[in-house]
Amino acid sequence: MIIAKSKSDLEKMRRVGELIAGVREALRGMVEPGITTLDLNNAAEKMIRDAGAYPTFLGYQGFPFSICASVNEAIVHGFPTDYELKEGDIFSMDMGATLDGFVGDTATTVPLGNIDPEVAELLKVTEKSLYFAIEQCVPGGNVGDIGWAVQTLAEEHGYGIVQGYTGHGIGRNMHEAPQIPNYGRRGTREKIRAGFVFAIEPMLNLGSPDTKTLADGWTVVTADGKPSAHFEHTVAVTEEGPEILTLSAEQKLKRGAEKGETVSA
Ligand code: MG
Repeated sequence: MIIAKSKSDLEKMRRVGELIAGVREALRGMVEPGITTLDLNNAAEKMIRDAGAYPTFLGYQGFPFSICASVNEAIVHGFPTDYELKEGDIFSMDMGATLDGFVGDTATTVPLGNIDPEVAELLKVTEKSLYFAIEQCVPGGNVGDIGWAVQTLAEEHGYGIVQGYTGHGIGRNMHEAPQIPNYGRRGTREKIRAGFVFAIEPMLNLGSPDTKTLADGWTVVTADGKPSAHFEHTVAVTEEGPEILTLSAEQKLKRGAEKGETVSA
């Protein structure tokens, strides 16, 4: 069953969304050649705890870190390590926080300096597919519309769609119903209603959709070794349409400008 959130639940989810978006953006500012993914993990954990929240990923089903750190061919669930990021890498970071009983979940893929143009395009299209999927989050739509949106853009560009890992409902628990695959058919599955909150997270591969899991039991990589991109927002469905709970202030301004709105600070 998909749990609809009350007004006061949504207020709490806005707060934790804003918190984790701020952590994501702070980490983005730290990503540069020479920093280790473990440094970034530790910085995230400190920021989350200093805000009075808990790093949701830490201990989740035994996951031993506060963020997932997935470099290049790693898709999701990578362990932070002493690997030093370098020019030309892409770095996917996925993180969550729990505050006042509710969870926010977000991910982004950051390029380091000059990357292969083909990979830059993969990042651009994957992020675009996230926003196209978010547009489907309107009352009266269907959950299948979300995956349809991601699939449409992925197929236009010939990217592999990761099948075994999906978006999800989110609220008091990080993973609630429904599962939201990154493929689907329009008009299928559950009706979307105001009050639902979804974590939407396209994972697209430059090459084949096939994946494998490394010996650590967690890190999921592309089977062909080609790069993969991952972008995620936590999104509330309101009567007025989708409200992205994990937008940074900068992303809000950019989206306002694209829609021709003036956004007051
Ligand atoms: Mg998620």
